[in-house]
Amino acid sequence: MESITFGVLTISDSCCQEPAKDRSGPRLKQLVAEAFTNAQVIGSIVPDDKELIQQELRKWIEREELRVILTTGGTGFAPRDVTPEATRPLLDKECPQLSLVITLESLKKTQFAALSRGLCGIAGNTLILNFPGSEKAVKECFETVRDLLPHALHLIGDEVSLVRKTHAEVQGPAPRGHICPHKTGAGSDSDRNSPFPMLPVQEVLSIIFDTVQRTSSLDKMLWQLNSPVNIPPFRASIKDGYAMKSTGFSGSKRVLGCIAAGDAPNSTPLAEDECFKINTGAPLPLEADCVVQVEDTKLLQRDKHGRESLVDIIVEPMAGLDVRPEGCDLSTKDRVFPAPDPSPVVVKSLLASVGNRLAVPKPRVAIVSTGSELLSPRDQPTPGKIFDSNTTMLAELLLYFGFDCVHTSVLSDSFEQTRESLSDLFEVVDFVICSGGVSMGDKDFVKPVLEDLQFKLHCGRVNMKPGKPMTFASRDEKYFFGLPGNPVSAFVTFHLFALPAIRWAAGWDRQKCALPVINVKLLNGFNLDSRPEFVRASVISRSGELYASVNGDQISSRLQSIVGADVLVNLPGATSDRPVAKAGEVFPASVLRYDFISKYE
Ligand code: AMP
Ligand code: MG
Repeated sequence: MESITFGVLTISDSCCQEPAKDRSGPRLKQLVAEAFTNAQVIGSIVPDDKELIQQELRKWIEREELRVILTTGGTGFAPRDVTPEATRPLLDKECPQLSLVITLESLKKTQFAALSRGLCGIAGNTLILNFPGSEKAVKECFETVRDLLPHALHLIGDEVSLVRKTHAEVQGPAPRGHICPHKTGAGSDSDRNSPFPMLPVQEVLSIIFDTVQRTSSLDKMLWQLNSPVNIPPFRASIKDGYAMKSTGFSGSKRVLGCIAAGDAPNSTPLAEDECFKINTGAPLPLEADCVVQVEDTKLLQRDKHGRESLVDIIVEPMAGLDVRPEGCDLSTKDRVFPAPDPSPVVVKSLLASVGNRLAVPKPRVAIVSTGSELLSPRDQPTPGKIFDSNTTMLAELLLYFGFDCVHTSVLSDSFEQTRESLSDLFEVVDFVICSGGVSMGDKDFVKPVLEDLQFKLHCGRVNMKPGKPMTFASRDEKYFFGLPGNPVSAFVTFHLFALPAIRWAAGWDRQKCALPVINVKLLNGFNLDSRPEFVRASVISRSGELYASVNGDQISSRLQSIVGADVLVNLPGATSDRPVAKAGEVFPASVLRYDFISKYE
């Protein structure tokens, strides 16, 4: 077992006064040290006082590395015996079967075991076991639970690989496609706990960035591309006016003709008292070197056809006036892109501006929705079925963010169908963004299918609301996002994980892959969940200050909460110090859309 710390707490008025009297505490420490050679053991003695016991327990529970607390004493019937009463309020979960196994074993030794009220339970990451006070009893109790402890701790800490290993040792080799005995797909009672550790959002993002391969072709194809042309390709007039020689001074000039945008540069000889009428964007005559805008001229004469023949130039012409020299915006010596910027608007526009018809490769993405309950929005309502909104939503989101959805499929909850479809799809796409089938139901086959297809499951649970079962897997350069089926969960996890991954694969700068984050002031108070929550909210600008108004019921099935959702307010998980987010408090918020201000007040 890996190195962990045990806490041995002796609870006894008399031992507290005279620590030398404590025999059970040292005995327990010795037993722990013998059983777990890697373990550290710390000890303490407190009197039979509820407050003081709790104080010490809390201190230990908060220590990350301290994974087991064994208490001895205070479990009996005497008035000062309050160990279980002190322990119970600190527990997140009780483990009555552990108490039961201790009691059953102890009863084999003495019927007085029936008079012990010891509790077992989990507080945070820590397993707490109340043992009776006698040295003999602690030895027996410890020996009863000793072999259960490593696996119990792996489960508490969500250490999936170790859990699997223990199961494998206990049960023999696992069948193919099988994740863990906790998830057999058979719907048995052992399918109750996800074997996947609940990872923080930022850690999942790091895993995604570390796993997804970035396209390198952008570096060579785009960012190093030298311009094949000059922009402008000729000296171009900036104004509608008259092109002339700057050496000719102001005064009246004969108009030799008109040059429109699109005309070829003309090489007609030009005297100092002559000029050409010229339009914005038109090429200057070869012998002219400046343009005087029409506002600084006066028409003096027209010929018999009505064409301008003589103009008065009111200002002094200057060399280069209102002329864009050839290549002044972009020259053949320059790179087309002064900096990498894979925004499709930028890339396509700039390539068009230099006449390049290169098609920039984008990740090939397919959308898959799973669920035997799903009906196409074009079908008639059918009992027991629901309309599939995720396929449309995810495909539209891809388009909104400038990516293409090359394929969509809707699959029923069948291991074989899901396996076959995903296997075929990955022949042609780089990413599959799938919704549904990743939770704890006995028909949620996505994770077993991925394992069967030899995908590595990097993440099967995220510490967030909504979207906890979000799954990310990869095999070589193929990537799979398993978004939860509830439409809002799929919406949120698409934005937070799938979009950054696709942008990253497309060559975006890491900083720009995730949604931009702004600060908003909450307009409404909000009860914090134990998990960090991403709350849909509309943004209101009051004299430039940004406020967030939460969009009604946030239940993950209610797609209506995305209506008017400009941002996802990033609320932290609740703590005992901060159980609510108060109106007026400022929180970061991830921006969902370009037009992210719903109202100006
Ligand atoms: P699942 O993640 O498959 O357990 O599904 C969770 C919930 O989301 C269930 O109520 C499903 O019916 C619903 N759901 C799953 N997929 C879709 C979808 N494509 N469109 C709308 N609702 C869905
Ligand atoms: Mg489902």
